[in-house]
Amino acid sequence: MVLDAPRSALRAADLPAPEPGPGDVLLEVAACGICRTDLHVVDGELDRPKLPLVPGHQIVGRLVEGGERFGAGDRVGVPWLGWTCGECRYCRSGRENLCDRARFTGYDRDGGFARFAVADERFCFALPDGYPDLQAAPLLCAGLIGYRTLRMAGDAERVGLYGFGAAAHIVCQVARHQGRRVFAFTRAGDADSQEFALELGAEWAGDALGPPPEELDAALIFAPAGELVPAALKAVAKGGSVVCGGIHMSDIPSLPYELLWGERTLRSVANLTRADGEEFLEFAPQVPVRTQVETHPLDQANEALERLRKGRIRGAAVVVP
Ligand SMILES: [Zn+2]
Ligand SMILES: [Zn+2]
Repeated sequence: MVLDAPRSALRAADLPAPEPGPGDVLLEVAACGICRTDLHVVDGELDRPKLPLVPGHQIVGRLVEGGERFGAGDRVGVPWLGWTCGECRYCRSGRENLCDRARFTGYDRDGGFARFAVADERFCFALPDGYPDLQAAPLLCAGLIGYRTLRMAGDAERVGLYGFGAAAHIVCQVARHQGRRVFAFTRAGDADSQEFALELGAEWAGDALGPPPEELDAALIFAPAGELVPAALKAVAKGGSVVCGGIHMSDIPSLPYELLWGERTLRSVANLTRADGEEFLEFAPQVPVRTQVETHPLDQANEALERLRKGRIRGAAVVVP
């Protein structure tokens, strides 16, 4: 499925199988998760994709050929971070997620909305056994970046999750496993998401713009709505943090300094490092994180994206070639 231009539907295309370059693996795609970031790319909110582009950056595939790390037939996961330079000040200080020249899967490189994909093997992951392909796919971005976002909350006990989509449904389980208390903030009246959050261990679920049931120690924002930032700052206690886990957000309204006062922290999380991925993929089966997915045939990727746009997906969406 190909994006020819932003703000247009993906087009089903017959392309030659991609050629692995040096250090690349060629994978036969078994499943590819859909992420909010894919929607930002298709909708033109992330404005420098390679074009035409095959989107998709939560790829579960089986190795066909190439590279040295994996054997033929091995199951391999490909995340958003597709390549880094290894030389810049960020790469040299354990912050490759901020690499000046990073290249991203399904943005700078073709991704997994396809039958075959190539990836630099150094940025691929082995996937934990016990997760079928469909359930493994959302671990690769919703899981990894959700986990990094939660880590930025330090040892916060009372954690608010703003936007209860693919990332939050995973983070909720991890946070509960760590003994934290979870509060889920959704669109007003979104009874479905609220019920889903309670099923997964949140002790309260309600309107994101309304008052919280009690003060929070951290708020993690996964919905791309800037007005959540002042609402979340208002909800956190002194010394608490608000962490924005998405790659794009609508403008943040101006806010009184009083909301930040009291040593509250506001920060973003950008991308992932390979260390995040390895840590999370080892940790997920211990929880165990159970991902809930709805599957769509690859040629119905547009319909799946539309469901995500409208907030209709419970858990994560996955396309299957
Ligand atoms: Zn993503
Ligand atoms: Zn770099």
